[in-house]
Amino acid sequence: MNKQEERTSLNFLEAIVEEDISKGKNGGVVHTRFPPEPNGYLHIGHAKSICLNFGLAQKYGGKTNLRFDDTNPVNESLEYINSIKHDVRWLGFDWEEREYYASDYFDQFYEWAIKLIKEGKAYVDDSSVEEIRRMRGIPTEPGEESPYRNRSVEENLDLFARMKAGEFPEGSRVLRAKIDMTSPNMQLRDPVMYRILHKEHHRTGDTWKIYPNYDWAHGQSDALEGITHSICTLEFEIHRPLYEWFLDQIGEFKPRPRQIEFARLNLSYTVMSKRKLLELVNGGYVSGWDDPRMPTIQGIRRRGYTPESLRNFAERVGVAKRDNVIDLSLLEFCIREDLNKLAPRVMGVLDPVKLIITNYPEGKTEDMEIENNPEDPESGNRIVPFSRELYIERDDFMEDAPKKFFRLGPGKEVRLKGAYIIQCDSFKKNPQTGEIEEIYCTYDHETKSGEDTSGKKVKGTIHWVSAPHALAVEVRVYDRLFSDPDPAGHKEKDFKEFLNPDSLQLIEKAYVEPSLKNAKPLEPFQFMRKGYYTLDPDSSSDQLIFNQTVTLRDTWAKIQNQ
Ligand code: ATP
Ligand code: MG
Repeated sequence: MNKQEERTSLNFLEAIVEEDISKGKNGGVVHTRFPPEPNGYLHIGHAKSICLNFGLAQKYGGKTNLRFDDTNPVNESLEYINSIKHDVRWLGFDWEEREYYASDYFDQFYEWAIKLIKEGKAYVDDSSVEEIRRMRGIPTEPGEESPYRNRSVEENLDLFARMKAGEFPEGSRVLRAKIDMTSPNMQLRDPVMYRILHKEHHRTGDTWKIYPNYDWAHGQSDALEGITHSICTLEFEIHRPLYEWFLDQIGEFKPRPRQIEFARLNLSYTVMSKRKLLELVNGGYVSGWDDPRMPTIQGIRRRGYTPESLRNFAERVGVAKRDNVIDLSLLEFCIREDLNKLAPRVMGVLDPVKLIITNYPEGKTEDMEIENNPEDPESGNRIVPFSRELYIERDDFMEDAPKKFFRLGPGKEVRLKGAYIIQCDSFKKNPQTGEIEEIYCTYDHETKSGEDTSGKKVKGTIHWVSAPHALAVEVRVYDRLFSDPDPAGHKEKDFKEFLNPDSLQLIEKAYVEPSLKNAKPLEPFQFMRKGYYTLDPDSSSDQLIFNQTVTLRDTWAKIQNQ
């Protein structure tokens, strides 16, 4: 059962949709769309919108289109289109054959523009962008009418056709809707519908020398595709009257799309704007768009997040009508919850120190059978080799261990996970650095896990790997990319000043159990007592690289509570 089915109360979008269905609106059909502009890679905010649009349609037996709002050839590319498609599919959604492009409707938009001109509802303006901006004025005072506003229909038709034919330079003229220069809603003060751009479009090539503005494309695209509920973020609320006006002028649409706004997802300790993410990539602050610290879907995927965890996150976040900030801990909670169920437990020693079992025969190897996942009874067992020389975690040993330290120290006993109880007898220390170099222990052969006849009880169990069998791997441990909850919220300071200097800790040589030799890229594992890790796709068979997905516990909550 997914989270959506578990929840009993409706969110406000579902309430609207259910009301429309109960009134028989659009014959009870629900048809949504996800409308990205292919000018960047998707991030977790987009994931929220994807889950919302596809989720809503799924819940009410409807459909969802994927539509690329490709009205601005300047920053758009096929590379982004392919990446977006890959990400939506990875999140677990299917638009079937309904892959659309606003550019497919350019002819239709053009015809509608001609219609508006003929009806005296649109005109060609020769004013510059700055003049247009100045004449629009401010919301509390009426704007100024352009001197070109009352051109004849013939002149407008002629100029617009010549704009299209490429006769005029970029920026010299625009087509504007003739609405109301006194409207308190600035969007209705004769908005621009077309601008001249002598740019190749990734789909229409050099056919067009004029391109529709987003506002003159978005609502009509929805209407053409039979979208019933156009869900968008709050900043489009003030555009709604304009979209309605455009559709009113063009004709009747069945269904007539209903626009509903919700608050965009903001995450603490994160920046989400495409421009800022680009700055991080271009400035070399991260290794690329798919750096595991990035909030992009590519980054999150490489970090080891599962689609399921993102869908659960989107569901838990819910939908709000007011702007808010979601705590990053909630995202981390969702991935922990998912990985706890499905990630096999393995042993990996990230800060190794050698441990020698002095009474264990040299050259002997034992196969220890250890369960893969106590949370998943079907997951079975695996074999982990055990021998005289092991690596354990450096901080599992203390030279002057206090009484409550239930790990290793001189005279102390612990169980080695899935193996024997050992007792620490002595250790070797580097006389110069004071670093512990080797720990010497003895084992009790009657204490083998599953066959223990000794009756001994110990308080601590630690993980280990067999030194001659272990694989040396690289491990990348991540922390939050920013150390401030709202890095972009400081007016006088650049968000990059709040980058967390410790967001990446590179461990060049850690040791993991040999079963990980066959790990597949992005396969999740729990390194026992350490956290969740996944194999980086850049790994090779000679050099395995593991990325930390998330720690086992919320370490930030602890810091904040101190
Ligand atoms: P920009 O407007 O800067 O180009 P954008 O993030 O709005 O960036 P789009 O490609 O237009 O990019 O977004 C596609 C869809 O994703 C839109 O419907 C948008 O409302 C939605 N979306 C974008 N960011 C968020 C967010 N943080 N939370 C929820 N939805 C979002
Ligand atoms: Mg946008």
